[in-house]
Amino acid sequence: MTTESGSIRADLAVVGGGVIGLAVACEMQKRGRDVLVLEMEEPGSGATQAAGGMLGPIAEAQIEEPEIITLGLDSLARYPEFVRWVEKTSGGETGFREEGTLIVAVNRDHLNELEHLKETFRSKGLTADSLTSEQVLDLEPRLSPRVLGGLKIREDQRIDPRRLAACLAQALVTMGGTVLTGAKVHDIVVNGDKVSGLVALGNDGMPVRVDCTDVVIATGASRWDDIRMPAEDPGIRPIKGQLVRLRGETLLRHVVRSPDIYLIPQPDGELFVGATMEEMGYDMAPTAGAAFDLLRFGWQLLPGIYDLEFLGMAVGQRPAVDDHMPVIGPADTKGLWLAVGHFRKGVLMAPATASYLADWMESGEMPEALASFAPGRLSPAPAGES
Ligand SMILES: Cc1cc2nc3c(=O)[nH]c(=O)nc-3n(C[C@H](O)[C@H](O)[C@H](O)COP(=O)(O)OP(=O)(O)OC[C@H]3O[C@@H](n4cnc5c(N)ncnc54)[C@H](O)[C@@H]3O)c2cc1C
Repeated sequence: MTTESGSIRADLAVVGGGVIGLAVACEMQKRGRDVLVLEMEEPGSGATQAAGGMLGPIAEAQIEEPEIITLGLDSLARYPEFVRWVEKTSGGETGFREEGTLIVAVNRDHLNELEHLKETFRSKGLTADSLTSEQVLDLEPRLSPRVLGGLKIREDQRIDPRRLAACLAQALVTMGGTVLTGAKVHDIVVNGDKVSGLVALGNDGMPVRVDCTDVVIATGASRWDDIRMPAEDPGIRPIKGQLVRLRGETLLRHVVRSPDIYLIPQPDGELFVGATMEEMGYDMAPTAGAAFDLLRFGWQLLPGIYDLEFLGMAVGQRPAVDDHMPVIGPADTKGLWLAVGHFRKGVLMAPATASYLADWMESGEMPEALASFAPGRLSPAPAGES
């Protein structure tokens, strides 16, 4: 709604239309708030656009902190209902699939890594089925006959993040919320000790003013100082990820991972081979080296990719902070909330992030599940304290 002064009025403004911002916006609109999302490009055009879409808290348990595994499992458990709701409300399809994930070995080094992984699962109370090479090839006959064995994780699933973002944006609008595209927020306005709105620059060069009582920052890996913000920088930095996009004959049903790479069949016939992890600042250039490595490892696992059409590379910036855990909760200024730093798992963690952040915004009480992710943990200790 536009006021007499030309401002847009909303209860809540969400800055950033990635999978996190859109999930939070939908959850709050569902709970009766009037929500406006401001997105400087198109919904889903940040890291969300490049994401593989694995919903895999278990496959990566070896390298994750226990808190991340717990939040990931919590979020994964919410997915079937989350998808049912968003598809029904938007009328779209998210590409959610529940075939599970295979982790396979094509050399002895991999086989030893799989043994370690099984140990990790045992120690963390997680489950996976051990598979012989024949069982792996029964499930996925197009994999290399060099496969030595594998694991099946029934719980780890997949979704198409681009479709999910489009569905969330549509669902928000269907519920009466608003998505403003091409609006780059540059200022959070504070009145006294409380947020009272924000200012963005529209694509047409005109300022967009918003009056609201709450703002959620969900800007992914974008530079913190792009926005004049009454909140300390949690130390967001971009971790570049590149993946190869191929198209052609359907070669796989499951997400297939090895210790080197992953292969993700997409609902529209594409196959993703991913992904690099690079400390390259804001460099977004696709590189020959990344394509070379990913295709080489991909071909070792799935020789048939040789004949697929090469569509190009998807490149994105994973939003990370020092401890590689998300930052979810209130900033120092009243009415300002953060939902950033989801690093490698933002798609997986969107439903739980949205639900717990909404609980916190409504009740003023920190949900126990967010205790490890609250913004305060990253503030420098006051002088004199160790
Ligand atoms: C190659 C790759 C593969 C990945 N694979 C997976 C996977 O399999 N599973 C998984 O769970 N995660 C995966 N991820 C991670 C996942 O993509 C991120 O964690 C997730 O997208 C973070 O979502 P977000 O909404 O916080 O950020 P983003 O998706 O980056 O969205 C932020 C949005 O904010 C907008 N924005 C920024 N600043 C402003 C501003 N000032 N004003 C208005 N708008 C602004 C941006 O344009 C952008 O659209 C992958 C990432 C990469 C790069």
